[in-house]
Amino acid sequence: MLASLLDIVFPPVCPLCEEGLMDGTLCADCRGGILSKKIKGPICAVCGIPFIAYGDVPETHKGRLCGGCITEKTPFKEARSAFAYEGLVLEAVHRFKYGGRVALAGYLGRLASEAAEFPARPHVVVPVPLHKDRLRKRGFNQSLLLAREVAKRLRAPVDYVNLKRVRKTDPQINLRSREREENIKGAFAVRDDKAFSDKNVLLVDDVFTTGATIRECAKALKYAGAEVYVLTLARTLIA
Ligand SMILES: [Zn+2]
Ligand SMILES: [Zn+2]
Repeated sequence: MLASLLDIVFPPVCPLCEEGLMDGTLCADCRGGILSKKIKGPICAVCGIPFIAYGDVPETHKGRLCGGCITEKTPFKEARSAFAYEGLVLEAVHRFKYGGRVALAGYLGRLASEAAEFPARPHVVVPVPLHKDRLRKRGFNQSLLLAREVAKRLRAPVDYVNLKRVRKTDPQINLRSREREENIKGAFAVRDDKAFSDKNVLLVDDVFTTGATIRECAKALKYAGAEVYVLTLARTLIA
């Protein structure tokens, strides 16, 4: 009663732009801005990068692989992302991850799950783990919040215990691609192989940048006997 009264006097503003009036989770403009960044059209069949990033490529490229996936075999079967990591999508991830707007998780996770079109249904959904020091500092693991939403949609359980970060690493954000690979090497391990052995595992993260973190997680899961699929909310189009 009081809440609805307050809504009339102070109508809730959009958590993203802090100006527009809420229409569901965001204002209509922000929602439109995010949806306009949806990845569509021909993509690499393995890593999911849109071929459009390399210029206009005809539909006939469906099912083809990008240069990177041809030269180097990935430890995951398929990776898909819902959005290009730019504009309002980048803004939303920043607000969510660094600004502590955890209320955005539900909405973003739901959007991410729409890109989860894989040949095999996941038996279990696994978030990319944070090191406990960073978890303590941030207060939440953004990947787990997204993974929970994705798992709900796919009707699969979440396992955030059996893939763990065994080594603290420097933040990847300031590193170049090669340095990222080095920095993250051996940072993850599986606690109990039985949790993933002979299972289709859907690994969830917020952003696919160079893919170094995701590949390293996927390696650990694969080593435990899993078939790994990857879903991220967003990805950078130029690595
Ligand atoms: Zn807005
Ligand atoms: Zn590829």
